[in-house]
Amino acid sequence: MIEIKNLHKYFGKLQVLKGIDMKVEEGQVVCMIGSSGSGKSTLLRCINYLERKNKGEIWIDGKLVKEKEKNINEIRQQVGMVFQRFNLFPHRTALENVMEGPITVKKEEVSHAKEKALALLDKVGLSDKAHQYPAMLSGGQQQRVAIARTLAMEPKVVLFDEPTSALDPELVGEVLSVMKDLAKEGMTMVIVTHEMRFAKDVADQVIFLNEGVIAEEGTPKEIFENPKHERLKAFLGQIQ
Ligand code: ATP
Ligand code: MG
Repeated sequence: MIEIKNLHKYFGKLQVLKGIDMKVEEGQVVCMIGSSGSGKSTLLRCINYLERKNKGEIWIDGKLVKEKEKNINEIRQQVGMVFQRFNLFPHRTALENVMEGPITVKKEEVSHAKEKALALLDKVGLSDKAHQYPAMLSGGQQQRVAIARTLAMEPKVVLFDEPTSALDPELVGEVLSVMKDLAKEGMTMVIVTHEMRFAKDVADQVIFLNEGVIAEEGTPKEIFENPKHERLKAFLGQIQ
């Protein structure tokens, strides 16, 4: 579904990604871990072209992404993204937030978009909040609306950048549980997270990013029970 070959990214002279190679198969959940500044967000942002890479190839669903405007818009529809901060439109209800993309970007009929949005809100457990504004919702509820909004575009893969790290601890579970359901349904996902239990339970593959390179990758069992890289051992020691 996604294949990345020799990806490099610089910010000025700072080299943030130093030759990333990775593959995410259809239906797989890949969790990415690593310390602050290791390049996790930058890697996700390069995958859906919120950042331009400097070198390397990105293949989505068997197609090489070329940096033409049209191509990039297509990629953004196929590759959804959920951020740490939910970025909902404050003056639109939950339902309107979820309907927005399909209507404006995909030119869907309003009635169809609405039906789909209601079903998605139901799926994330928020059918009773459809007509609330974001300010009336808890952080966990807002993040679930944000997930529904991303799914409304019918992406082939969803990238999550620390989707629970801005939430109060008691709200983390409800968002992780929605993500678990998505994984069970076979959604292809790449998830940057510090929730190690979640990664252990849900990931098919875990990637440890360190100073812009993939220092180690493997199954959750390999990564968490038998880490080899010194930096990974130190990282896991800090976090657990
Ligand atoms: P965190 O766990 O704190 O979110 P991260 O692994 O996601 O960290 P990135 O946000 O990818 O790390 O940042 C990697 C490096 O790139 C950092 O040194 C950061 O300061 C730098 N960086 C990120 N975005 C920019 C930018 N737009 N301009 C300049 N430098 C940037
Ligand atoms: Mg980050």
